[in-house]
Amino acid sequence: MTPPLRVLVHGGGIGGLTLATALARRGHQVDVAELRDELEVLGVGIIQPSNALHVMREIGVLDACLAAGFEWEVLTVCDPAGATLARIPQPRMGDAPSNNGIPRPALAGVLSAAATEAGASLRFSATITGLDDDGEGVDVTLSDGHRGRYDLVVGFDGIGSPLRRRLYGDTYTPEYTGFANWRVTLPRLPEVQGVVMSAGNLKAKALLTPITDELMYLGSVFAEAEGFRPDREHAHEQLAERLAGFGGPIAEALAQVTDPSAVVYSRISQVTVEEPWHVGRVVLAGDAAHASTPHLAQGAAMAVEDALVLARSLDDAEDVATALAAWEERRRPRAMWVQALSRAVLKQETGTPTTPEEDELLKVGIPGAAHVLVQPY
Ligand SMILES: Cc1cc2nc3c(=O)[nH]c(=O)nc-3n(C[C@H](O)[C@H](O)[C@H](O)COP(=O)(O)OP(=O)(O)OC[C@H]3O[C@@H](n4cnc5c(N)ncnc54)[C@H](O)[C@@H]3O)c2cc1C
Repeated sequence: MTPPLRVLVHGGGIGGLTLATALARRGHQVDVAELRDELEVLGVGIIQPSNALHVMREIGVLDACLAAGFEWEVLTVCDPAGATLARIPQPRMGDAPSNNGIPRPALAGVLSAAATEAGASLRFSATITGLDDDGEGVDVTLSDGHRGRYDLVVGFDGIGSPLRRRLYGDTYTPEYTGFANWRVTLPRLPEVQGVVMSAGNLKAKALLTPITDELMYLGSVFAEAEGFRPDREHAHEQLAERLAGFGGPIAEALAQVTDPSAVVYSRISQVTVEEPWHVGRVVLAGDAAHASTPHLAQGAAMAVEDALVLARSLDDAEDVATALAAWEERRRPRAMWVQALSRAVLKQETGTPTTPEEDELLKVGIPGAAHVLVQPY
């Protein structure tokens, strides 16, 4: 389709800002409505695997991501005591780097600057309050009083997606997996030159991920009751109890965790929209459509792939309906594969019984999955 299309992106997270940048660079008129104040991004880190970095290069922000993060290539696997079991080089997608660890606020800064520079309009503290799709266009009212008519509305509004609820009611609500992630940002240990993963006979896993020259984060997954929340004053001790069986670099990192307020606790949930991801001119993407557990570090990678492929589908199609159908046909199998394998890895690593289908999927292994994911998206 010939620009300019008028597009509203609901949610200015990782996927939404990537889409806004990709579309605005093509000459489309893009508004982004983001609920939060622009400064509020959770201060932990994220891994950008090679397929995500490939998208970053395509939208022109690869160098900025690498400059703000820590590029790495080798995954080190240790036993719980800290003895190195394997050093596994990670593949590249084309000439994109292998991996980059980056603080989430830095990534948000890179993407919001790129979207603005490309010409997108970012509206913070804004959410959809009214939406009417009459087939020819979508009339939208935002909470900040803005009204607009759009050719396309994209819900990149995360796992709790209010737009998903608007389209499908309560049919798709996030399902808690029974596991939660504990993360703490710490000074980087010199030996942490890439992800160091410690796993084995403890039915738990702990990771150290470099995110800048100075910083890394300690992340770990444990079974937790749905209603559990860490104690505000003792979260660091609660984490220490859970990681008591780990030695080596994990124990060394843990010794630095003395501030309970530095501990970030996230319950791990997932959701899959089984019906088509679009209704008329309103479409869901990223976590809103297919949030997975973080066990392959691919959730944001899938969101940015969704974004770029959507922009390309709009380039190639004659109308919005054809673009959305072509986009979903391309995206659903890959996103569902990541989701199913991520869930199976969670079960395997935590000693939860797996199904025969999951056993089949798990044959690829995490290193094998990385090779699958550097194939074209
Ligand atoms: C513990 C953990 C670790 C992870 N680690 C990795 C990793 O290393 N690598 C990786 O690729 N992925 C990782 N992920 C997954 C990744 O964070 C998500 O998949 C990714 O952020 C999804 O992007 P998104 O744009 O779809 O949603 P989000 O990034 O969640 O963005 C959604 C946006 O919508 C906004 N929003 C919500 N409600 C409204 C509303 N009503 N109106 C307007 N805006 C709204 C939110 O404020 C937010 O900015 C991890 C996830 C978890 C839980």
